Amino acid sequence: MSRSEELFRRARQVIPGGVNSPVRAFHGVGGAPRFIERAQGAWLWDADGNRLLDALCSWGAIVLGHADDRIARAVGGQLARGSSYGAPTEAEVEMAELLCRCVPALEQVRLVSSGTEATMSALRLARAATGRTKVIKFDGCYHGHVDSLLINAGSGPMTLGTSSSPGVVGAEATLSLPYNDAGAVDVCIEAHGADLAAIIVEPIAANMNLIPPADGFLARLRSACDQSGALLIFDEVISGFRIALGGAEEVCGVRPDLIALGKIIGGGLPVGAFGGRADLVSQMAPDGPVYQAGTLSGNPLAVCAGLTVLRCILDDADFYPRLSGIAQRCGEGLAEIAGDLGIPLQVRSLGGLYGIAFAEAPVTSLADMQGADHARYRDFFAAMLRRGVHLPPSVYEACFVSQAYDEEVIGFLLEAARGALADIA
Ligand SMILES: *Cc1c(COP(=O)(O)O)cnc(C)c1O
Repeated sequence: MSRSEELFRRARQVIPGGVNSPVRAFHGVGGAPRFIERAQGAWLWDADGNRLLDALCSWGAIVLGHADDRIARAVGGQLARGSSYGAPTEAEVEMAELLCRCVPALEQVRLVSSGTEATMSALRLARAATGRTKVIKFDGCYHGHVDSLLINAGSGPMTLGTSSSPGVVGAEATLSLPYNDAGAVDVCIEAHGADLAAIIVEPIAANMNLIPPADGFLARLRSACDQSGALLIFDEVISGFRIALGGAEEVCGVRPDLIALGKIIGGGLPVGAFGGRADLVSQMAPDGPVYQAGTLSGNPLAVCAGLTVLRCILDDADFYPRLSGIAQRCGEGLAEIAGDLGIPLQVRSLGGLYGIAFAEAPVTSLADMQGADHARYRDFFAAMLRRGVHLPPSVYEACFVSQAYDEEVIGFLLEAARGALADIA
């Protein structure tokens, strides 16, 4: 038995499913998860000493590469000055200033400790500000494990085949519609517009593989909100700082009222943020009545890591062209190899992520993704893992790249894919 298998067996005795977040258990792909001991740059080392190319980058949270020197130095320095004060710090102000400077829709922002907290709080604010309760979300979008948003959710729930969860309250207030279906939104607004607090959407859907918005879809959501008085919330926990400095607005030209952020802005430490129009965000306590708080909100270590990432991004004019170039080369390389072997593989890249789906036609909805060849992905995943590449352990996840992907890394990925795709052809 490998050390990872041994650890997994031990873990299952005391941790539900042996993991602290469900998709990590490999139910979507089979086999035992690799327990990780350390990471550097683009690579992970598991408990058996195997080196694995990391195509997941902590579900998108890692963008500079693992164990980046600049983050290690900054966080180490902060740790020596204390890890949590429960009182405000200058670094939080600087972090908020940088976020507001980069993301056009952010006039004010509050830091929290996870993406889930960010979407949950944005939703509470939207309901408070509008005095309404209903919310439109989209099938296959994932907004963290917020009760009322675990309805037709992508990512983990979809991977486990449940898509919604027992034990949640507020499900009746959630209307889940097909992504990219503006007609369905119009019909829903007709029926529920007067009760609608918000439309929440992943502007670039990345929890059902990678599905960009159809032309005009986000603009239609904007006008549906303007017409009904609901607020538009962009969940940019993945897309924020991964597709462009200014997020989805920079790419799609549509401004939301509120934004949720997470993942990248914590540099690998637990951070989330929500914010947007000042007239809305200023309704948060203590100035306003909408309550939200956190013992570790704005935590010095997490803010220090996040600030370091943001500064590295801002200091590098070539950051996004290079990052999207890397994702594009990975995606195009895979598409070319699959094409040579006659394997139908749909590949898309956008900013610092790419999606691969074994399907005959481009994937534009959750239904398309559900219809893709999942058995083939399982085989591909296993064949890549044997060759030292750690892909996302579910067809519903995107692949992520970091700045640590150099020529050697991209070459390694494509060489492994050549062998793996030949295996499963
Ligand atoms: C990961 C994710 C979340 C939840 O963030 P956590 O930090 O895992 O709570 C919310 N929305 C989107 C789009 C995500 O990808």
